This record gives sequence, structure tokens and C-alpha cells, in this order.
Amino acid sequence: MAKKSKHTSWDLSPAPESTGHVDIKKKYDLFIDGKFVKPKSGKYFNTINPASEQVLSSVAHANEADVDRAVKAARKASGPWQKLSRKERAKYIYRIARLIQERAKEFAVIESLDGGKPIRESRDVDVPLAANHFFYTAGWADKLEYAFPNRKFAPYGVAGQIIPWNFPLLMAAWKIAPALATGNTVVLKPAETTPLTALKLAELIQDADLPPGVVNIITGEGDTGAAIVNHKDIDKIAFTGSTGVGKIIRKAIAGTKKKATLELGGKAANIICEDATIDQAVEGIVNGIYFNQGHVCCAGSRLFVQESVYDEVLEKLKFRIESLVVGDPLDKNTDIGAINSKEQLHTIEKYIKAGKAEGAIMYQNNCDLPSKGFWCRPTLFTNVSQSSKIVQEEIFGPVLAIQTFRTIAEVISKANNTPYGLSAGVWTDKGSKIFNLSSQMNAGVVWANTYNKFDPASPFGGYKESGIGREGGLHGLQAYLKF
Ligand code: ADP
Repeated sequence: MAKKSKHTSWDLSPAPESTGHVDIKKKYDLFIDGKFVKPKSGKYFNTINPASEQVLSSVAHANEADVDRAVKAARKASGPWQKLSRKERAKYIYRIARLIQERAKEFAVIESLDGGKPIRESRDVDVPLAANHFFYTAGWADKLEYAFPNRKFAPYGVAGQIIPWNFPLLMAAWKIAPALATGNTVVLKPAETTPLTALKLAELIQDADLPPGVVNIITGEGDTGAAIVNHKDIDKIAFTGSTGVGKIIRKAIAGTKKKATLELGGKAANIICEDATIDQAVEGIVNGIYFNQGHVCCAGSRLFVQESVYDEVLEKLKFRIESLVVGDPLDKNTDIGAINSKEQLHTIEKYIKAGKAEGAIMYQNNCDLPSKGFWCRPTLFTNVSQSSKIVQEEIFGPVLAIQTFRTIAEVISKANNTPYGLSAGVWTDKGSKIFNLSSQMNAGVVWANTYNKFDPASPFGGYKESGIGREGGLHGLQAYLKF
């Protein structure tokens, strides 16, 4: 059993300063029915630090029998969890939020160690947003009848949740919080390269005294994810990951009782109009594509610049790219951390090669890279054609493709011309243009004069091959209820 937290009362006073103590165990079992249990598979795999290639921990690899055990625990817990008063459920969710705040520093360090992202981002974005997500949904948990007035609703039952490696704790929060607030129980699987913060969350859930089986966290690879998707006693699948796996899941659940929310890939276009405040726009573009090494489904990976300001934008972008610090994720001055895995680095390198082969012109920050670990310099391409791979396909890395445009009609048709429709950005000083452009963009989220801004109250999700359904806000709660 994990040690009891000092903060297990319903106390909502400010969290004490975290000690910064980081506790990573050598070996992690599966979190099922409120306990860590050995996998029936008998198998474990290593999770490494992508900045040093050192092994951080050995983690259980759940097989079908393990998934079955977790689903049975979630099913057993489902009735009592649904019967609990909404107020009681809300208290548990508040408690999780509070404990995340208390342990924020530890979560941030582990997130950066396991995933490679800069500590500034884990500390200022991932961890606080994860806590906020629990706070937000806890607020709704006992007020659902006001959220959905005059409608009868009930939780689905057991939710199977599969998350990616780019925002491991935050994605776990996006999944677990709304499921709990609506009275569902959960079997969640983190990605194989970043299991540690989800396992820390399992310890925290133990400390929060959540009834056993309400949240089960099992680790494994794609086969474990497939076993969750195919398990007969799961009512709802929530998946965030690649469009390829999203399509496999859609096929697998077609014709079954299972409902699904799928949050998949993207190829977001940022549009800089000639009347934009250029310095502000350049900052936004840099944040949009290089934040989290571009491992972001809504990364602003395409940029359209109106011809009259193109030279100025390009010069300022190059200057800004030069100043980005690439290196140790735990250094708080780092802007660009490690690429999450060797495989992902190969994928990115393949796209960079394809860009060059297609005749695009590459520009990179020319810094030195550490000798160990997986690294990619922030990169931009100009002279790209609309049909090229680096414009059409999701790279999931720090690679920006820049095109120019003359008219609004032209840029809208190009911006909408990819298989994706997750997000977009508009940069202009004219309010009317914001409405005009954003209403024509085929994207679930359009940011104006800002980028990558998230709030638990805002729904997030895409059109076309970017997915089905919305997460966040009331839409995110609705996705876990049958009406
Ligand atoms: P990426 O390609 O960016 O690694 P994936 O979509 O492969 O993203 O992975 C996202 C999550 O989906 C991970 O937790 C992974 O283990 C899981 N996964 C991979 N393959 C499958 C599958 N066939 N069915 C269900 N989940 C899967």
C-alpha cells in the first residue's frame, strides 16, 4: 500500500509547498481493484528517459487476462459508484485534484523524465491543467441535472480509456475526470513510452481512498489497448492517439454496443494576414509548432502568410528559431526537449527527408545536440507545395511548413485541404476577419491571435479524420452519459 497522504481530509485549504521529492519505483505492477497486482502475463517492459536513454523503470505488460481482471473490477465497482450520492462522488474528484496540486512538482519532474518535455511545460501547463480538469468536473458532478435540464440520463457503466504519450497526465485527467463525475468506472491504459505519471496517479487515487475498482490503471502496449477495445463488457471507449489506430478502433467496435469518443490527428493551419501584429503572430507560431517538440495533435504545423508580409514574418521566425534552447528537459531554460522515442524520431526524420526530396527549402536552428537521447532541431520548410507529404500528413514533430497566399478565398481552400480538421489559428487585427475566417475553417477549434490555449470548460475535438466527439466542458461530460 502506498503511504497515506497527510492531506486525506476533505480540506480544501491551499496545498502545502511540495517537497519536490521524486519517487520512481524500479518496478510497477498493474493497478486493479484498488491494489497493485502482478500481471498474469508475467511480462514487464522498460520505460526509458528519452533524453538519456537510461531505463527509468520496469512496467507490467497486461495481456487479455489482465484486461479482463481490470474490467471485472470496474464492473463490480460500477453499481455502488453509481449509487453513491453525486456530492460524495464530487468530493472524491476534488480530493484527486487537490492531491495532484500537492504533488505537482513530483508529477512535473516525472513527466519530463519519462516523456522528454521541458520542465517549464510540465510544471506550468500539464500538471496544473490536469488538476484544473479534475476541479472543473468535480464542480459539475453534483449539478448534472442543471447541466442537462429536463433530460433523463445515466452513466454508460464501464469506460475503457486509451491515451497517448504526448500529454500523459493531462490526457489521463481528460479521460478519468469526466468519467467519474458522470458515475462511470474506468479502465485506463497509458502509452507504452510514458506510463509513469499514470502509475503515480494510481498511487494518488489509492491515497484519495477512492473505492477499489472505480479507477483501474493498466500498462501495456498496442495489444493491451486492443484487448480493452475488444473486451465484451466495456460500454464506452475513449481514445486519444493516431488516426491509424482510431480507424482500427472504429472498425473493431462497429456493430457492438460500445460508444466511442476518438480524438485523433491534426494538421492545423495558422493564417497570418497582412494586418496582423507580426511580432505577436511570430511568437504564436513558434509556440504553436514547437511547444512539446510538436508532439501535439493540434500543433500549428502549417503556416500561411499573406504575401505582402511574408519576408518580414520569415526573417523574424528564423531569428526566433535561432534563440530556442534545445536540450535537457529538466533545465528550466530549455524550450525544446527530447523527442519522445527513437521510433518517433525516425518518423520525423523520414518526413524531413521527404520534404527535402520534394524540393522544399529547409531551415534549422544550428545548435549542438546532446550525444545521447533522441533530438530534433526546430525546423521550418519554405517552398512547399500543397500536395507535398509535409503539408498533408501529420508529422508530430517540430517541423513547420510555410506557404504564402494572396486572397482569403485562396487561403481558406488550402487550409481546409487536408484529411484533418482539428484546429486552426487566425492572426489579424481586424475583428471582422476573425469571424469571417474562423467560420470558414473546417476545424473543431479556431484560435484567434493566440494559440494552444486550453481551459477545462472549453470543448475540444475535430472534424473529418481528426475524430469523433468532444472532450472538455459539458460536451465532455455528455460523452459519458446515455440519454
Ligand atoms: P502513436 O502512433 O502516436 O504512438 P498510437 O495511436 O499508436 O499513437 O498510440 C496511442 C495509444 O494507443 C497508446 O496507448 C497505444 O498503446 C495504443 N494502441 C496502439 N495500438 C492500438 C490498438 N490496435 N488498439 C488499441 N490501442 C492501441
